[in-house]
Amino acid sequence: MNLYEYQGKELFARYGLPVLPGQVAATPDEARDVAARIGGTVVIKAQVHAGGRGKAGGVKLAHSPDEAYDKAKDILALTIKGLPVRRVLVAQAADIGRELYCAIVMDRQKKLPLVMISAEGGVDIEEVAKTAPDRIVKWHVPLDGLRPYQARALFQPLLPDGKLVSQAADILLKLWRVYWDADCSLAEINPLAVTPEGRVIALDAKVSLDDNAEFRHRDWDGWRDPDDETAGMRMAREMGLSYVKLEGDVGCIVNGAGLAMATMDLIKHYGGEPANFLDIGGSSNPEKVTTALKIITSDSRVRAILFNIFGGITRCDDVANGIVKSLKESPLDVPLVIRLTGTNEELARKILSDHGLSATTSMDEGVRAVIEKAQEVTA
Ligand code: GDP
Ligand code: MN
Repeated sequence: MNLYEYQGKELFARYGLPVLPGQVAATPDEARDVAARIGGTVVIKAQVHAGGRGKAGGVKLAHSPDEAYDKAKDILALTIKGLPVRRVLVAQAADIGRELYCAIVMDRQKKLPLVMISAEGGVDIEEVAKTAPDRIVKWHVPLDGLRPYQARALFQPLLPDGKLVSQAADILLKLWRVYWDADCSLAEINPLAVTPEGRVIALDAKVSLDDNAEFRHRDWDGWRDPDDETAGMRMAREMGLSYVKLEGDVGCIVNGAGLAMATMDLIKHYGGEPANFLDIGGSSNPEKVTTALKIITSDSRVRAILFNIFGGITRCDDVANGIVKSLKESPLDVPLVIRLTGTNEELARKILSDHGLSATTSMDEGVRAVIEKAQEVTA
């Protein structure tokens, strides 16, 4: 899950990182109110899950509440990298002397967190990474964590005096705590600004949380943006199913990620287009089947559905019961093709035929049948 800047800054503030006061606003009127409360010059910033907002016109200064109203109105009308701006952050503006870059990211290859800092932060950091990668200092955090002397040593060459080095090092240490405690896969400050008076502050916050750790963070629920998730994605997450929506019209419900990939490949092979990747996993829970069908049918593009079950730990009879139960609760208005083989296959076949359903054992046959049905519906 990616956090919006305002959420990232809330998290930063909890850990004592220096951020300037601000509040999120959904309308120009709210933005004016927040600006009046903060007083002085404020910065209005688009809250979208995309970088490069500055360059896209999504970050603007306002010198009065009325100007904040106007700038917020402009920014709320923007679409940045395909994402409509639904909210803006209105924050006290900073005077910027220098812009540094400071981030901690998971280096999967080394299996260690990686600190990246640069004296050349700001909106052109991607360009720096491309043209002058040596200007970005990289350092792996050892398994026993980041020490104050290490943080200072990293910033020493980048900053001209000890006071600034201490502040920046303190920020990196706190960022490390955020990264570690909150199970981040990325915690980034860009720009890490140095003001003309010699204060170092986090002017931006980009935080990605590792969804695998969600079970131990109750507070994440409040951060999830309902607009970010379709009904299908929400149901899948709550039921613990892996679901990725795709552009095609053949819905597939499969047990196991490998089989799901193979199923998608075979659908493509026979000229069809999968509507999704959906792995109901290796457990025997009819409820998962019901949810899976609900997810697939919530996608209006789906013209036919294929169940492809290779029974191992997943028992075919459980899947069959799940199918029968769901169809009773809400009959399908698209054709259904069932392929199952493996554990309790005979029992499953009996359950299905008792309810007027049939199943094939051949994956090839199942895939060809479902594509044909999808095409019939389209024609
Ligand atoms: P991004 O482009 O999406 O990364 O958005 P940022 O929050 O990093 O803002 C982009 C740029 O806007 C920064 O690099 C700053 O130059 C500028 N900016 C952001 N906040 C302030 C502020 O409080 N005061 C001033 N003067 N500039 C700001
Ligand atoms: Mn930024």
